[in-house]
Formats: sequence, structure tokens, C-alpha cells
Amino acid sequence: MNILVINCGSSSLKFQLINAQSEELIAKGLCERIGIPGSQMTYAPKGGEKIEKAEDMPDHTAAIRLVLNALSDEKHGVVKSLDEIGAVGHRIVHGGESFAASTVINDEVMKAIEDCNDLAPLHNPANLIGINACRKLMPDTPMVGVFDTAFHQTMPERAYLYGIPYRYYEDYKVRRYGFHGTSHSYVSHRAAELLGREYEDLKMIVCHLGNGASISAVQNGKCVDTSMGLTPLEGLIMGTRSGDLDPAIIEFLCGKEEKTVHEILNVLNKESGVLGLSEGYSSDFRDLEKGYNGGEAPSIRAMNGFIYRVVKYIGAYTAVMNGVDVICFTAGIGENNSFIRKEVCAHLAYLGIGIDEEENAKRGEEVLISTKESRTKVLVIPTNEELAIARETFALVK
Ligand code: ADP
Repeated sequence: MNILVINCGSSSLKFQLINAQSEELIAKGLCERIGIPGSQMTYAPKGGEKIEKAEDMPDHTAAIRLVLNALSDEKHGVVKSLDEIGAVGHRIVHGGESFAASTVINDEVMKAIEDCNDLAPLHNPANLIGINACRKLMPDTPMVGVFDTAFHQTMPERAYLYGIPYRYYEDYKVRRYGFHGTSHSYVSHRAAELLGREYEDLKMIVCHLGNGASISAVQNGKCVDTSMGLTPLEGLIMGTRSGDLDPAIIEFLCGKEEKTVHEILNVLNKESGVLGLSEGYSSDFRDLEKGYNGGEAPSIRAMNGFIYRVVKYIGAYTAVMNGVDVICFTAGIGENNSFIRKEVCAHLAYLGIGIDEEENAKRGEEVLISTKESRTKVLVIPTNEELAIARETFALVK
């Protein structure tokens, strides 16, 4: 069965068509600037040439129509008819407390996702628009929702509650939810497979280090803590997000800069993190690494701040689980930046970790980078959220 995986943002839409049995990627692409002049679609059938086309996409339905046309096109298409698409898997950012697992989408589920809009006002409405557009164009094809928050729903109360009046949780569901759950789940399962160990027997720390970054602790097959919170702003220092800070800073800065809370939150989301620490130099670790190696103070400051926070969370989660068997690195930085991995691991000698420099020099592939003698294993595992969504979708509709 072929599964269409859709990741719908407010003005963009990423898609992949995956054969669920062979797990082969059949085609993938991206629609950009939906609803904005200058929209364009990129489409790449497996083994074929990448096609970039300027196309008018006034809304998401138009974008999905173009995607379906491209997939079934006589010349560049990969299916003869849309009947060859057995199901659609949708990435959904926030499932609140309603979804601890993926689910087949019906009207009731749509309503429950809509009820979470408050918690992810930039993402969930866009996800819903994508689902509605697909349902309109493929009314007989089953749709599945796969939630970024679902994997973390196993966290115990002590990990997900904030130290604020309990009624805020009762009345407004203010709590830690966590994100990147599909990635944390995929990587932790893959780590157990690669080590030849039972998933339920391991204590794992997964470092998803991309532009958005989060760490999770997975103990005996369950996520027990994660660094992102009610929103993705909490936790690590990220590309442009501040991560953890004293909440009193917000009012203090509002006064000093004569800005509203909304404006300061915008700064914390978009102008902070390593971008802010490097005085606006870059949010991209490729640039920062060059700056670091060139002895530039802003890049050194940003890199050191980022590494320190990762080390701190690994320490905290080791304490939470009373030990750790394996630490995994994934996402853009985790998969590709051997310098960051090495620097983080240099602070983990207390876990009996030694790094094999030659293995650590590899990028973008599954590799054990800890030495044979290491008490705690360290793995690099490229994440594959689309494949994970296709698997979850297939499991529910087959
Ligand atoms: P997101 O999906 O959150 O937007 P990514 O997982 O793509 O982010 O990660 C982006 C970060 O990963 C950037 O800081 C970038 O420097 C780093 N990165 C991505 N690809 C590479 C690569 N091939 N080599 C080195 N660094 C990379």
C-alpha cells in the first residue's frame, strides 16, 4: 500500500509518497508560498529529475490538487491513478491530552484537534486546513493523524506539571507536552534495534538537535521527560528560540524596551537562541562552526552556550532515570555536526563515555560513535519522521 505523508504549515506543504510494505520512498516534494504571490512546487519522483514549477496556489486545496496531479501525471507521475494511494498520514503538531497515539481521522477527531488550536495557534489550524483539503479531494481514502505530542503523553505527573497553582492545569491544561515526539519515538526504537536490546529494558536519552531542538528521556519503553513544554519555546538554546529562562525577564524587558509581552515573546522565539547570542550573526551551525574556528567571539559564545545547555539536560535526565544506557544524536545538527557531538561527549566522562574520532567524523548515517570500552553507548541515528508517520498510518488502516 502507498501512503501519502503530508506535513502542512501555514504557507507550505511537504509531502512524501512511501510504499508501506517495502518502506521505499516513491516521490517527495514541497509546495511553498501557498496563498502568497510567487507560489512554487518542487516535485521529485524517485530516480527521476527534480522538477521546480511556478504554480498558482491560492489555498491549500489548490496545493494538494497540484500534488495529486503531479503524482498521477502521465509523464512524471509515479501512480496510474489516485486509487493507488491507500491512505494519507498527516503530521499534527498539538494533540493536547486527547491523543496519546496516532488515530484514524473522523469528524469527532477533527473537533478534538480543533480544541487544541489554542495550544498551537500557528500550527494546528494549518494542519486542519491540510486535512480538510485532502478529505475534499480524496473522500474515500482513510486519513490518519500523527501527533508531535503523543509520544510524550506517558510522562508522569511530576514531570509534566509546572510549579504553579494546580487549577491552571485543571482549568486551562497548562502543563508540559513536549514536541518532536515522532522523531524521539523513531530514534529510540531504532537505537534498541541497533543495539539488539529490548526497547523496554533500556534507559535512553534522545537529543533531537535541529533548528528547533529538544531532548527526551525514555525509560523502559516510555518517555518520562522532555525539554520542550507547553510550547516549543522551553528547554535547549535553539537556532532562534531562547529555551529556558527566568519568566520575570519578560516583564523586565517589556519595561526596558517599551514592548508588549507579545513583542518580547516574538523576540524569544525568533531573535534569540544562538542567533541572539551571536549578535545576529547566524542561527545556522555551519556558519557558527566557521566563526568558532576563526576565533570569532560571537560564534564561540553561541556554541558554548548551546553545548552547555545540552550537557546540562543530559545530566538532569541521567539523574531522573538513575542512569543511562544510550545517548542518541539526531536531526540536522545531531546528524551532521561532529564537533558539537564531540564537545558534548567530552563532558560525559562520568558516564564512562569515550568517543571514537573516526566514527564520529561520519555524518548523516547510523553509527555508533562511542568506543568499544564505553560504559554508555552513543549513537547517531538520522531521524525519519515521514517514514514513522507512514508506518503509524499503515498500522491503523491495513
Ligand atoms: P529544522 O528541521 O528544525 O528546521 P534541521 O534539523 O534541518 O532543522 O537542522 C538545521 C541545523 O542543522 C542547522 O543549524 C544546520 O547547520 C545543521 N545542518 C543541517 N544539514 C547539515 C549538514 N549537511 N552539515 C552540517 N550541518 C547541517
